[in-house]
Order: sequence, then C-alpha cells, then structure tokens
Amino acid sequence: MDLLVVGSGFFGLTIAERAANAGRKVTVIDRRHHIGGNAYSEAEPETGIEVHRYGAHLFHTSNATVWEYVNRFTSFTNYVHRVYTTHKGTVFPMPVNLGTINQFFQSAYTPDQARALVREQAGEFDVKTAANFEEKGIALVGRPLFEAFFRDYTAKQWQTDPQKLSGDIISRLPVRYTYDNRYFNDTWEGLPTDGYTAWIERMADHPNIEVKLNVDYFDESQPLNKKATVGQLPIIYTGPVDRYFDYTAGALSWRTLDFEQEVLNIGDFQGTSVMNYPDMDVPYTRIHEFKHFHPERKDIYESDKTVIMREFSRFANREDEPYYPVNTPTDRDGLLAYRELAKGERDVHFGGRLGTYQYLDMHMAIGSALSLWNNSLS
Ligand code: UDP
Repeated sequence: MDLLVVGSGFFGLTIAERAANAGRKVTVIDRRHHIGGNAYSEAEPETGIEVHRYGAHLFHTSNATVWEYVNRFTSFTNYVHRVYTTHKGTVFPMPVNLGTINQFFQSAYTPDQARALVREQAGEFDVKTAANFEEKGIALVGRPLFEAFFRDYTAKQWQTDPQKLSGDIISRLPVRYTYDNRYFNDTWEGLPTDGYTAWIERMADHPNIEVKLNVDYFDESQPLNKKATVGQLPIIYTGPVDRYFDYTAGALSWRTLDFEQEVLNIGDFQGTSVMNYPDMDVPYTRIHEFKHFHPERKDIYESDKTVIMREFSRFANREDEPYYPVNTPTDRDGLLAYRELAKGERDVHFGGRLGTYQYLDMHMAIGSALSLWNNSLS
C-alpha cells in the first residue's frame, strides 16, 4: 500500500483515483457501509426514484478542469436547478430576483427601480463592509425581503445568532435584477445521468484501489487505525478535523440534518424538486421531491407515486453525521488551533468539508483534491 485515504467522499475518491491512475496502490477506508460520503444516493425500492440519502446534491461548477474531470466518470443531464419558497401561504421564486421582488411588493418595478428600492431598504448596510450574515443579507436584499425569506429560514437552519454567522453563507445565493431564477450562476450544471452512486463507484473502480467499508480509523482493534498508520505512509484524512485531534482544541460546531421520507400514492406532490419553508410555524426547512430531479426518466417520472423528504436541521452531537460547519468566531479560533496541529502531522493531508471545516460544494472538494494531487502528491 502506497497511500491510505480515510473517507470515501469526493475529496478522498478524487485523490484515490488520481493516485491509482499514476500506479500507486491505494486503500480507501470508510466508517459507513457505503462509499461516496454525503453524496451517496440509492433507488427507493417501491418507486425506483433516486433518493439522495443525505439531502439533495446538485452538481454545478465554472471550473473547466473539474468539469472535464467529472465527465470522465459520468455524463450529466441538462437539469437546471430552480427553487421556490412558501412564505405566509404564497409561493415565491428563490433566489431573490425581479420576480420575487415584484411579487412580494405587488408591483411592477423595472430593474433600476427595484435596485433603488433595495438600496433604500438596506439602510446603513453595505455589501462591501458587511461584517456578518445579518448585515450582508440586509445589504443584499433590504430588510423586508431579508426578514421574509432569510431571517427565520436561517434561524431554523443554523440556530445561531446571524451576527455570529459568516456573510459568505448568504453570498452562496445570487440576487438578480432580472427574471432569471436559476439557483446557480455556474457555467455547467446537471445531475449524473445514472445517479450519484454509479458515478462514485466508477471513480473507485480501479485495480489499484481497495475499498474497505465499516472501518473506523479511530478503532485501534482494526489494523488501519490512526496510531498504527501515521508516519508509516502518506495519509489523506477527510473526517472531522477536531475528531482527528481528539477534540484537544475543543469541539467545532456542526449542524446535522434529520429527514422524514414518505412514499405518496400521487403522481406529483409539489410540482418542483425543492420547496423552501422560510417561516417559523413550519418546523422543517425544505421538502425535496426527488422525481423532479430526473424528468428525463419518463417511466419513473410519469408514475403515480412520488417520494418526498422533509429536511430538519439541528446541532450535531459527536455520534451524529456532521453536515454544515457553523463557523462562529469561537469555531474559527478552534480551527486555527487545529490548523497549527495539522502542520505538525507528518505526511497527513487534511481535505474535504470535514477535514478542513469549510462549507465546500462538491466541485470545490474535487477541485481542491486535484490541486493537492498535482501540486504536492503526484
Ligand atoms: N437561505 C435562506 N433562505 C432560503 C435559502 C437559503 O435563508 O430560502 C440561507 C440559509 O442561511 C442557508 C444559506 O442561505 O443556510 C445557504 O443556502 P443554500 O441553499 O446554499 O444551502 P444548502 O443547499 O447548502 O443547504
């Protein structure tokens, strides 16, 4: 074995695939019973509808290198992600665009009029100087739209004072003064034609890659554990960085998700793939209806059954799956301490959302793995 990869999400699998391709013998271990991390999906048995086990994953990128790389393992459909949000019993398009603004204010503003209105409603806040989520949100869309669509959704999603959250979280969403309601701005987007798991399995399918599932890196009763391997060979670690160091600089805060899945005997529940619920009287943040991700799968799409999944957010305990780094000022201090500790680990490379405590999208995890491989490991 030339390389040990801990965790089989996109970061780990990209390194494993590149290394295997270059002739290295790679072992990938994962604590779970499947590969792919939170991108894992499976067909719901009754309906055949592909369900993203850990919440909806939408692939998008503007990075040509990443796009070329991922297309080696899967083709992509021409799905374009659009999201709607139900506020006080009315459905609005998300992200905020001219359609949202005009519907919310029951008006027919031109782009310039809408811009002027939002500027006025943003009051003292400015996008360039906004210091946190709340200031940036108000600066971007003005106070009334912020309160309707972001304040309470964010309270449910993060349960954290929005002044302690990073403005980068809200900058994930575009604000447009046109009627374009695409969720992403990227050059390329789409869903893997035959599903995430088929894509992920093709990445791992190489004679130089051995995958071992149900293996916990911190379980010293199994041979490929931390104590036995660090310093013996290069290691890619993609689990939570605080777990690696046994929480010596404190536990970093994470959000996890709970899902309630239902198979319904109706052809269409909500007419779209994702409906957000930004109001406090609804306990979940959104409902996914998976068949809408693949309208091209005609038999399944037109069947008289559908699968929906309600998504609930809460703080993760140590035994829960971490999903979202909360990244409060306290967390950032902790992260700096872990980065210092990481520098002292011989030949251990930390990557992915959990290993770096960064809110990385799939294309970012893949892009950073390709950079690590090209710059340091190849
Ligand atoms: N957000 C919101 N209302 C929405 C959608 C998003 O307040 O209708 C905020 C919320 O804080 C969320 C963040 O914007 O965590 C980023 O949203 P995104 O859809 O990118 O989150 P993800 O799909 O990664 O959960």
